[in-house]
Amino acid sequence: MQLDMPTLWMMLLLSCATQTLSVGWVAYRNSGDGLGIWAGGLALDTLAIVLLGLRERIPDLLSIVGGNVALASAYACFLAALLQLLGYRRRGWLCWAPPVLAAAGFAYWLDDLLARLLFSGVLCTAQLGILLGLLIASRPVGRGRHLLVGAFAISLCISLLRFLLLLSGQVEIVDVTVEVPIQSWLVLASFVSTVLGANGFVLMAKELADQRFRLLAQKDGLTGAWNRARLEEVARREIERQQRHGHPVSLMMIDIDRFKQINDRFGHAAGDRVLVAFCRLVQGSIRASDVLGRWGGEEFLLVLPDTSLSSAVELAERIRSLLAAQSFPDVEKVTASFGVTTRQAEESWAQWLHRSDLLLYRAKAGGRDRVEAYEESTQGTVRLSEQPA
Ligand code: GH3
Ligand code: MG
Ligand code: MG
Repeated sequence: MQLDMPTLWMMLLLSCATQTLSVGWVAYRNSGDGLGIWAGGLALDTLAIVLLGLRERIPDLLSIVGGNVALASAYACFLAALLQLLGYRRRGWLCWAPPVLAAAGFAYWLDDLLARLLFSGVLCTAQLGILLGLLIASRPVGRGRHLLVGAFAISLCISLLRFLLLLSGQVEIVDVTVEVPIQSWLVLASFVSTVLGANGFVLMAKELADQRFRLLAQKDGLTGAWNRARLEEVARREIERQQRHGHPVSLMMIDIDRFKQINDRFGHAAGDRVLVAFCRLVQGSIRASDVLGRWGGEEFLLVLPDTSLSSAVELAERIRSLLAAQSFPDVEKVTASFGVTTRQAEESWAQWLHRSDLLLYRAKAGGRDRVEAYEESTQGTVRLSEQPA
């Protein structure tokens, strides 16, 4: 197959310019997802293609130094965009150091083609290696990252291949625009990498935004605890798991005592602060696999996978005493009542929940600030665990 270099170069240029405009348009007035910075990177990539393509027709300093600085800046922008999208702090030096190095290196070796190509190989490989490493280490959700990994891997291979071929002395040392078969294939690979990269990043931004919205829709806005819908989803999943594996799963229903009085005496805002502090306290006492949700008002549910009744009662007692000992800025003392159950075989979610609710009611009736638990023993008797305040 005959690959015509000027046509290929023009194709690469047009595809890069089109991606710049498309991603830039999507990013317009959108901030925080790194798309604007990615579009900036694509614009610099386009500029690099123009400058490198005009070799021999414009001064070397502009073509060689300008083109390679633009390319190093493009990769630096891709890194900054990725850091922003993934929510990492921007590492300033990783963004400005490569273009500065490129400017110094290419200006220094302006008249030495081999040294220039080797330097370019090292710099590109380092930048692409960091981009790939970041993507692999951070493991963001979705499939967009697969495309992006593909794009960076292709670019890295191009860079490494050029570097190794030069070192081995098996290819003629020529500029990137000179027509030799290997160069044509490398330009074609760059084309694929650019398209894959832009698509991958846009898709990844969309997938991460979807995930953020999904999480937001499942959380209580005030306390950050899971909402009722999510709690039910988790409880049903745990019921299925228990049916399959037989591990015990417990449920803790918690209701803050005399919360209405807190609101009435100290104001609704103070009540809100108590709810937030309460959730923080509970979150600090549970395992990562335990799930805290707000069932409604000042009532919370804890789903405790792989937890026996005695462990659940122990946890409830710990939370109860921590809460009773905690001092709140506006409100002097806050207590809560607890109903704790372990799911029994064949029990539905509604029955299990109802049983926990009855126990909570019993804790309230028994004087509040207490834990009530219920277990049907092997003899069929009922055991009541109760710790008065
Ligand atoms: P008990 O000890 O029997 O549970 O009494 P209680 O006062 O805690 O229960 P009650 O159901 O009488 O009152 C609950 C109060 O919680 C009433 C409601 O205004 C308040 N509440 C519900 N949601 C919120 C909220 O998001 N913020 C605040 N500040 N108050 C809330
Ligand atoms: Mg209450
Ligand atoms: Mg209540």
